[in-house]
Amino acid sequence: MKTLDFIKLSIALIFTASCFINLQAQNIIIKDPVIEKAVNEVSTYEIEKLITDLVDFHNRNNLSSTTDKNRGIGAAAEYLYQKVLSYIPESNGRLSTEKIYYTAGGANTRLGRKVKLCNVVATIKGNDKMDDRIIVVLAHYDNRGADGLDSTSYVPGANDDGSGIACLMEMVRLLSVINLPVTVKIMFMSGEEHGLLGAQHMADLAKKENWNLIAVINNDMIGNSNASETNTQNNTMVRVFSENIPVVETEDMRKARVFNSAENDSPSRQLARYVKEIGERYVDNMTVKLIYRNDRFGRGGDHTPFSRNGYTAVRICEINENYDRTHQNVFEEDGIKYGDEIWAINFEYVRKNTGVNIATVANLALAPPVPENVKLNIAGLTNYTEITWDAPKQGKTPKAYYVLMRETDQPDWGRKILVYDTNIKLPYSKDNYFYAVQSVDEQGHESLPVFAKGGR
Ligand SMILES: [Zn+2]
Repeated sequence: MKTLDFIKLSIALIFTASCFINLQAQNIIIKDPVIEKAVNEVSTYEIEKLITDLVDFHNRNNLSSTTDKNRGIGAAAEYLYQKVLSYIPESNGRLSTEKIYYTAGGANTRLGRKVKLCNVVATIKGNDKMDDRIIVVLAHYDNRGADGLDSTSYVPGANDDGSGIACLMEMVRLLSVINLPVTVKIMFMSGEEHGLLGAQHMADLAKKENWNLIAVINNDMIGNSNASETNTQNNTMVRVFSENIPVVETEDMRKARVFNSAENDSPSRQLARYVKEIGERYVDNMTVKLIYRNDRFGRGGDHTPFSRNGYTAVRICEINENYDRTHQNVFEEDGIKYGDEIWAINFEYVRKNTGVNIATVANLALAPPVPENVKLNIAGLTNYTEITWDAPKQGKTPKAYYVLMRETDQPDWGRKILVYDTNIKLPYSKDNYFYAVQSVDEQGHESLPVFAKGGR
């Protein structure tokens, strides 16, 4: 075959194959300098110091002392509360904190007796009075060793969940000095190891008080980079767990999901994709890996009570777990060190995971609210796709919108089209792609995507 003929044949093949467009176009990385600065200021020194202090409480079991000044869960709660208080003067009135008490347990429960536990909540108040949206970031400060009822042995809990708590405290420090229109609540939870009790209390409070809660991010174990048994090492990848089908799905929601083939497009999955896009935009040497399940087999986390109350919630967790350390007492056997000790924490990994959290929360808090009534027009047979939506009714008005497009067999949104109107007509068949719409402001902060559905 002559060279020219080969080129002609190749071109013909390309045209045959290109009914589907290439959505893997190059991305332009545009960073907001304010968010970039906050991400860059996350400090491994602060993270190490905070985990060191937490470990010093000896044991943070939910049954441990609430009155001892130096040991136990009560002393840990007071420490976290005082630490948040110390950041208030720098916050120009944005930051406040409270201890939220609740009673849990009883004779026939996992705790075996009734206890009074405390969640410490840091609130960074949004500065837009017309915007009542709330973002929640949480981690748990209670811990456990091999025996869940052992409240006296030395159980450091450096990674589970000292790492998540350190991330949260850095978020308090770095987000409370930024002007954000949306309120961010940073929750230091108790009760996790005995049935997600603290998170359940907060999720019920959110429902009772009718919070406009747009996203919940749980950080539970984000500091271990080494797998037990296989000795796999990785501090460049973190998992985000999100539910496939909402646990609260009603019959009407089920019908709409089936009609739209939206089984990979729950609100929590959109949040997970958002964490990936924004986290990777701001944090170098980091891949955010979506896991298509709510949590690990047989294990739970504090995002789940929020999911059960109908909120959009995900869990961020290290890619490799180490079962010689998690929920173990400290001892050594056959040359293996057991226990959740601080020497095993990869502080650089916690720093990067904290950066992912800060970038995600700041970008979301600075974004306009989501577009409303996002509709895919499915009437008639056409090779065009028409999508319409309305501007959000509250909060700042979007400058424009992004229409997101992805092939039905792809995990991530591919093409991102900037639109100034509230409708779009695209020369692609609606049958061959999934679509969503985001609001975007002048500086490029985008809202969560709203999946474009057809039908009633
Ligand atoms: Zn945990």
